[in-house]
Amino acid sequence: MNERLDTDTVVVGLGAMGSQALWRLAREGVDVIGVEQFAPGHARGSSHGESRIIRTAYLEGAEYVPFVHAAWRAWDELQDAAQARLVVRSGALMLGPPESGAISGSALAARRHDLAHEHLSAEVLAERHPRHLMRPDEVGLFEEAAGVVLPEPAILAAVRLAQEAGARVLTHRAVTRIEPDPDRPRVWVGDTEIRARRVVVTAGAWLPRLLPGLADLGGGVRVERRVLGWFPITGPLPDTATTPEPVFARDEPDGTLWYGFPSLDGGRTIKIGVHAESAATRAAGARRPGSQWGEPVDPDVGPRPPDQDDARRLGELAAELRGVGPLPERMASCMYTMTSDEHFVIGHHQGSPGLVLAGGFSGHGFKFASAVGVALADLARTGRTDLPIAMFDPHRWDSRRG
Ligand SMILES: Cc1cc2nc3c(=O)[nH]c(=O)nc-3n(C[C@H](O)[C@H](O)[C@H](O)COP(=O)(O)OP(=O)(O)OC[C@H]3O[C@@H](n4cnc5c(N)ncnc54)[C@H](O)[C@@H]3O)c2cc1C
Repeated sequence: MNERLDTDTVVVGLGAMGSQALWRLAREGVDVIGVEQFAPGHARGSSHGESRIIRTAYLEGAEYVPFVHAAWRAWDELQDAAQARLVVRSGALMLGPPESGAISGSALAARRHDLAHEHLSAEVLAERHPRHLMRPDEVGLFEEAAGVVLPEPAILAAVRLAQEAGARVLTHRAVTRIEPDPDRPRVWVGDTEIRARRVVVTAGAWLPRLLPGLADLGGGVRVERRVLGWFPITGPLPDTATTPEPVFARDEPDGTLWYGFPSLDGGRTIKIGVHAESAATRAAGARRPGSQWGEPVDPDVGPRPPDQDDARRLGELAAELRGVGPLPERMASCMYTMTSDEHFVIGHHQGSPGLVLAGGFSGHGFKFASAVGVALADLARTGRTDLPIAMFDPHRWDSRRG
């Protein structure tokens, strides 16, 4: 027999974005139901692996900076409400040739928005940040307003606070269908029908699958595999190093952009991962299906587990760090959901009144989750938000084509 639930808003998917939206809605007194196919804080989507970088001088585009400011404020609110430390301020070090995206993009955002930052020559880097083995033509940019967000605790805190504020949460239950009805959209969770005034869809890598034919999103998003490795710290560094050691992103001359978190477990390991691969690696991957970087993933199957090839590739990068062992202690694989322009999708679905979407976070969305939650709650409650999300319009590709 079918069960039927009525509510004001349903949030589909309680990962990074959905958990924050659920809490913001419940906090505003909205009758809200959150549905998650696994358990919040799980390791099968895009939000596991213990740490995510937050930076303010945004190399992906100076236009993101006001949204990062909103995210910092919203993380503070979550930390206050949860009485927990969910963000660690370590500062961030961008490394690479002066013309690389990491250096020039961050510098541009910092200049445009008057953000405190410091340019570091190779000599100053060697003295202050001896962890990094730099080539003489590479430079650094240090930003203090940066650090690490702890993804699993942040998701669990938001879901717990939402429940305390009255949200109903269905876990280990998958939404099987969404029917966008102008009056009252319906969400099906197996045999259970939920009728709501608004549906917020934050299904991460599963978003296109849940909305087939509804959300074109510029021809669709690509779900890709990424691998993380935790490498042992083998020796102490000269005490000139900053404490805690800053998170870093390094742009290699061949176009590989990789990153690391040196200071989360008391100096035992450094976690590293590759954000973007070089053009040469991409070309090799295209010839050799199964290459580890950017390999397409069916989210229902999940990304291939890490293997020897992954360990070798990450080990090559770890060799650019002083005092770090060559073999990872452990590894994990994760999914990126890439849009064609690598900018997010946040907003109303024009053809389907009642649907609000957030997805396509293209490997750099977690730091914004706190502000995305506020924006989604605003959109679901009032139809609009003051937060700067116009550039993430889900229909931006429609107008370009027309
Ligand atoms: C290895 C890696 C490193 C990253 N590093 C950074 C970083 O340093 N800084 C940064 O800002 N960002 C980073 N990101 C990106 C960031 O983590 C993602 O952009 C963000 O986590 C995406 O959140 P989401 O809510 O869209 O997806 P998810 O957190 O995966 O949430 C989607 C949720 O929806 C649920 N769901 C899906 N379908 C259904 C259904 N039918 N019914 C019910 N539930 C459903 C899923 O189970 C999941 O819980 C990184 C990502 C990866 C993979």
